[in-house]
Amino acid sequence: MSLFEMSERATKYRSDLLEFMESCVYPAEPVYEQQMAESGNPHFQPPILEELKAQARERGLWNLFHPHPEWGPGLTNLEYAPLAEIMGRSPHLAPEACNCNAPDTGNMEVFTLFGTDEHKEKYLKPLLDGTIRSAFVMTEPQVASSDATNVQLAMVKQGDEYILNGRKWFASNALHANCKVMIVMGKTDPNTATHRQQSMMVVPIDAPGVTIMRGLPVFGYQDREGHAEIDFHDVRVPAKDVLKGEGEGFAIAQARLGPGRIHHCMRAIGMAERALELLCKRAQSRVTFGKPISDNANIRDWIAEARIDIEMIRLLTLKAAYLMDTVGNKAAQVEIAAIKVAAPDIALKIVDRAIQVHGAGGVTDDFPLAGFWAHLRTLRLADGPDEVHKRAIARQELAKYKEAR
Ligand SMILES: Cc1cc2nc3c(=O)[nH]c(=O)nc-3n(C[C@H](O)[C@H](O)[C@H](O)COP(=O)(O)OP(=O)(O)OC[C@H]3O[C@@H](n4cnc5c(N)ncnc54)[C@H](O)[C@@H]3O)c2cc1C
Repeated sequence: MSLFEMSERATKYRSDLLEFMESCVYPAEPVYEQQMAESGNPHFQPPILEELKAQARERGLWNLFHPHPEWGPGLTNLEYAPLAEIMGRSPHLAPEACNCNAPDTGNMEVFTLFGTDEHKEKYLKPLLDGTIRSAFVMTEPQVASSDATNVQLAMVKQGDEYILNGRKWFASNALHANCKVMIVMGKTDPNTATHRQQSMMVVPIDAPGVTIMRGLPVFGYQDREGHAEIDFHDVRVPAKDVLKGEGEGFAIAQARLGPGRIHHCMRAIGMAERALELLCKRAQSRVTFGKPISDNANIRDWIAEARIDIEMIRLLTLKAAYLMDTVGNKAAQVEIAAIKVAAPDIALKIVDRAIQVHGAGGVTDDFPLAGFWAHLRTLRLADGPDEVHKRAIARQELAKYKEAR
């Protein structure tokens, strides 16, 4: 099969997903907005979303991301890419409706790879069923967390328990109405090798000593899943809830973030495609100075550039996905880093131009564009800021010529 040919099963999922988007997801968007507004609670789980989950499941559009056939359809990254892109067109609804939303997908992979039988029974199964949600808790307000070796939350061993003390923030999903469990990264041994100091532990969100301090707004939006600041005060975690073993936190973080990063990029392409579609429709339907806005050369230039840019980031995403499937996440790290920088940046530019073409309406919530912009802008930080990915790419590039140093 060539890189550009979709497998038979991916083609089938794609057409089923497109049909689901048209007949269920897009019509649900205004209902969702209305139910959220009526609830007066930014972290409300609206009934329309539960309806969509049931419909997606009935159609077999469930856990599409999961690479292990035991738990999902077992698609490759290359097969999943076009599906994630389609879900990205309605980012508040479609990914969760199909149980393919961050950060739960990454957490499910961690439980699959490193969880005990008890973790799988208690957390992985209900996560795969979509009945509970989870958070990944690494970033801290007091240290520069784009360098994960900086995390300070103390995990001190006492008998067969660890005592956790520290402060975290930007724990996405921690305010989701169904969030039950966190995967927390902290420091178990400050005196060992730099990348062996950290561990990850499974902590129920209602464990004594865990206090959710606040939900952090993103450009004024309180996202439904919430980005929480969390205080840990003498939280006791049994040693059996250390994932993979003490000192393995950094290795798990690396394993977890590869697929998660590329999924974000795939959805970003979906947002860019939808923004371009909205731009074209709006530009042709509104008239200034005697002609449709789309008849102006600069607008046509934007449209052409957007199409070229989308094709480029899609190809790079597919290449990264293909390499992940064929040579592994580690060998694909330059391509993953490259697309993690390029996709949000280019999608942001396209969304920005679509906002411009919509005039004042573009910055309101009457169109999905303002929400897309806010979300995409955070992707230049979440799962590693642009500069950190560029640093990794430049290091690999320079290494090719290290004799010149
Ligand atoms: C909406 C949103 C959701 C998030 N969800 C989660 C989550 O679920 N769980 C979680 O743990 N975290 C989450 N994060 C946090 C995110 O992962 C961190 O913000 C990110 O890793 C950067 O860490 P920091 O904010 O501490 O920035 P810092 O580490 O303080 O870095 C600040 C800036 O310094 C610059 N910089 C850093 N290193 C270099 C370098 N080597 N060269 C040049 N410039 C550099 C970059 O521009 C960077 O943005 C989320 C963030 C956002 C915005």
